[in-house]
Amino acid sequence: MDLWYTEKQTDSFGITAKVKRTLATEQTDFQKLDMIETAEWGNMLVLDGMVMTTEKDEFVYHEMISHVPLFTHPNPRHVLVVGGGDGGVIREVLKHPSVEQAVLVEIDGRVIEESKKYLPSIAGQLDDPRVEVKVGDGFMHIAESENAYDVILVDSTEPVGPAVNLFTKGFYAGISKALKEDGIFVAQSDNPWFKAELIEQVIKDVKEIFPITRLYTANIPTYPSGLWTFTLGSKKHDPLQQQRSAELDSKYYTEAIHKASFALPKFVDDLTK
Ligand code: SAM
Repeated sequence: MDLWYTEKQTDSFGITAKVKRTLATEQTDFQKLDMIETAEWGNMLVLDGMVMTTEKDEFVYHEMISHVPLFTHPNPRHVLVVGGGDGGVIREVLKHPSVEQAVLVEIDGRVIEESKKYLPSIAGQLDDPRVEVKVGDGFMHIAESENAYDVILVDSTEPVGPAVNLFTKGFYAGISKALKEDGIFVAQSDNPWFKAELIEQVIKDVKEIFPITRLYTANIPTYPSGLWTFTLGSKKHDPLQQQRSAELDSKYYTEAIHKASFALPKFVDDLTK
């Protein structure tokens, strides 16, 4: 008999994938963690019933959350990733030769360990000497940091459980303090079909803190609705006007995609007004 995994994205809609086998399942100190080998998407990390990443389409999210801000900043040397224990964002950050230090603050050490075991093509750079891995709360790390980072990337779960604080104006104010004077940050901000109010709130809060606030999108088939948004806050550099030449090994990100990702469908653009 076929076995299917379904993520219920609303009470009346979900996304489903055929399962080959379950590789791991456990309740960590913070969340339910499942690692599933699927027929279509390769190995898939699921936290609290929500798809976090799959081997087949992970490159879209990890390239877009990283390269848009990193190619907007003229010389990113110190980068912080909040969440992101699967290691995909770190892998992309390290593709930038200017980066001297990449700090990862992930609250759940089990996500890191299981990703190294079952998602080696994603987590494979976590042992790079430029990377400092800290197991702890990203909110606290931000509160304790000042003028420390050129770019901060918030690769968090949805605003439930330990990630609730990562979607607050206080957190964005802390990010501004933790960034250097021309710093840039990006946070994943969910999808406009089912989470329009969340996007509106994030944009409103970030606008009150950062002089330059932009929303951009990418197509991620295994995330709810497939259309994903990222919110960028910048102190000085505008991602629409400034970017270095985008030359690196990528599968989704290009200079044209960088620009095009800021062209929003009208119903999405309306959320930013
Ligand atoms: N790319 C995914 C998405 O958009 O659905 C998220 C990737 S997943 C690796 C996000 C990680 O954020 C989880 O491993 C979770 O443990 C971590 N996280 C949640 N709240 C956190 C917090 N307060 N501090 C640090 N990490 C946190």
